[in-house]
Amino acid sequence: MPPRATPPLPRALLLDDPRFDLHAPPGHHPERPERLVAARAAVQGAAVAFEHVPAREATNEELGRVHDAAFLEQLERARGARTHLDADTYLARDSVSVARLAAGGLVDVVERVLTGPVRQGLSIARPPGHHARPGKAMGFCVFNSVAVAAAHARARGVGRVAIVDFDVHHGNGTQEMFYDDPSVLYVSTHQSPLYPGTGHSTERGGGEGLGATLNVPLTAGGGDDVYRGAFERVVLPALEEFAPELVLVSAGFDAALRDPLSEMRLDSAAFGWLTRALRRVADVSAEGRTVVTLEGGYDLVALETGLSAAILGLTGQAEEIARDVDHPDVARAATAARASFRRVT
Ligand SMILES: [Zn+2]
Repeated sequence: MPPRATPPLPRALLLDDPRFDLHAPPGHHPERPERLVAARAAVQGAAVAFEHVPAREATNEELGRVHDAAFLEQLERARGARTHLDADTYLARDSVSVARLAAGGLVDVVERVLTGPVRQGLSIARPPGHHARPGKAMGFCVFNSVAVAAAHARARGVGRVAIVDFDVHHGNGTQEMFYDDPSVLYVSTHQSPLYPGTGHSTERGGGEGLGATLNVPLTAGGGDDVYRGAFERVVLPALEEFAPELVLVSAGFDAALRDPLSEMRLDSAAFGWLTRALRRVADVSAEGRTVVTLEGGYDLVALETGLSAAILGLTGQAEEIARDVDHPDVARAATAARASFRRVT
């Protein structure tokens, strides 16, 4: 028998840059350059043909779609300074540039996913972004890269963008930026109560955007069953109804059992089926266009193994969800979400 041909590796775009290491804290801090060592190990261990996307600084026009001009000016004045923007958000000497590189690089990943032929992208850029508000850096985040990327997609004519945020913390900044916008569906699963204190199920969008924000707060201690139920019964039906043309994933790995900043209990494989399920949604309505961008995740082992699994999910190599579960948290979340969600297109 002739040897069977090896199937080609799945392709995906990758944003990484050595300058992301320059955002380094003045002392001990969970959001540290060592996270990139873990993330790069996951990338290097993946059976994926990655195509590198160069980082470049986001322009004022790109950042200004979601951030206030006065905030951009404040950060330009802070270029080169070692300082803090709030109690837990530091700036190193190069951090303003690095944060612009993270956002601009993600815009380019989205641009390339939109034009093809490669329809999946991954960013392991630091600093993270989902807590950054229109006029304020917050919670380790300087610029809100995923929001900047979503706004770029909208500006070039994409009708419906979904941002799914499974970081253990609520992405208050992202929610705020698109709260009144019916064309960007923001969905978050997060531990509650926990920093930053937002993300109640009654926060569901405002004005024209009513129904285009979906929060699924989860009680501390939940593991795979809770997340499976939340995804099957709340997150995925809402996404399928919205039928996004682009799926962006705020991928935090801090809901992992090992993570020091939360009390959730996900195992690493969960990040695979979570991401696989989101890729499935994209396959149905978005020609597979899915971009995963790193947010939190502060245990280095959990980050590496969780991101490895998420890469499998992004590239269609992870197992799909295949069972129903029932859990009080999920039942509550499903009831609240069904009451609040409506078709927004
Ligand atoms: Zn987080």
